Amino acid sequence: LIERLRGFSTTIFSEMSQLAVKHGAINLGQGFPDFPGPGEVLDAAVDAIRAGHNQYPPGHGIPELRHAIAEHQRSWYGLDLDPLREVMVSAGATEAMSAAILALCEVGDEVVALEPTYDCYAGAVAMAGGVLKQVRLHEPAYSLDKAELAAAINPRTRLLIINSPHNPTGHVLTADELQAIADLAIAHDLIVLTDEVYEHMVFDDRCHTPLATLPGMFERTVTISSAGKTFSVTGWKIGWLSGPAAFMDAIHVTKQNMTYANGTPSQHGVVAGLSLPRERLVEIGTGYQRLRDILGNGLTDAGFDVHPVGGTFFMMADITPLGFDGDGYEFCRRLPERCGVAAIPAQVFYADPASASHLVRFCFGKRSDVLEEAAQRLRELA
Ligand code: PMP
Ligand code: GLN
Repeated sequence: LIERLRGFSTTIFSEMSQLAVKHGAINLGQGFPDFPGPGEVLDAAVDAIRAGHNQYPPGHGIPELRHAIAEHQRSWYGLDLDPLREVMVSAGATEAMSAAILALCEVGDEVVALEPTYDCYAGAVAMAGGVLKQVRLHEPAYSLDKAELAAAINPRTRLLIINSPHNPTGHVLTADELQAIADLAIAHDLIVLTDEVYEHMVFDDRCHTPLATLPGMFERTVTISSAGKTFSVTGWKIGWLSGPAAFMDAIHVTKQNMTYANGTPSQHGVVAGLSLPRERLVEIGTGYQRLRDILGNGLTDAGFDVHPVGGTFFMMADITPLGFDGDGYEFCRRLPERCGVAAIPAQVFYADPASASHLVRFCFGKRSDVLEEAAQRLRELA
């Protein structure tokens, strides 16, 4: 393996999912739902296969999907996009992020991201030969300090990566935090990649605000999202990017050398998803809010110190009160065997793992009876 990718071995998600399978544990580690997506979405993909939509689609994505994405951004957020020049389909948000970083980051450029940092950003920055700098969100609310963000930026900084709702913390960036990010991006002429895959999973009357809607931001922002989370089809790997045509043109150069194009039938399925009435997407969020409360109450009863969650299907919990003799990684490595539940040690998302060795991430994208059972098992740890 080349020098700059050493240290990037098996992802923590595969590692913990394999342990879950080995011990027959309830997998609250890797983030994927255990319930099916909307029937219309599944039917549309099946129908597309039967109708013969089984050959290469256009590299940028089928026109119907690019129109549906543009229409979604218009009706939800008031963003006016040219579907054929400012929207591109990708192999999930993962390819979107890698293709964007590879297209926009010169070797040696610095890239600033929020910490804890979703793992694929670090891998993509390393592949591009960039230098990752992480700016910490402060627990328990995981707030962003503008002065700390400003201090991470210097003349070599090219890209800023943000993610809201945020994996793994569940933090939804506040209006002030988004404005602080916008002010600094404009002042330092940065491009921002904003990962909004959990845009429809926001709770307690919060609204998702895309960074691209702030004044002066559209022209410097690449917005990334994915069907996997919204429509419970993580295995389809259909995501998308939107932003100024010049960015899309640049990113298309890397994207076409990575996958060229992405599954045609599932793109038809996603068109059906994005065309669902507004209430149906709102219901997806309220459904996850109920699941958040079930797992949150269960973990609290089991003795964890649960941190507040504004969005996503993840929850951070402090294991200190459990008195476990070891760090979060050791805790998660032993958890499937000890009580039949799998989770993710949050320290893997930090530059200094020791500073987050008390934090464990749980996914609540599971049926309520499964979450109740998991909580029951976790109570036995006490
Ligand atoms: N970004 C974030 C913040 C995620 O949590 C995930 C997956 N859970 C991804 C990107 C990857 O999305 P996809 O599966 O669409 O590649
Ligand atoms: N994004 C998912 C998570 O955070 C995992 C996706 C993956 O396995 N790469 O759990």
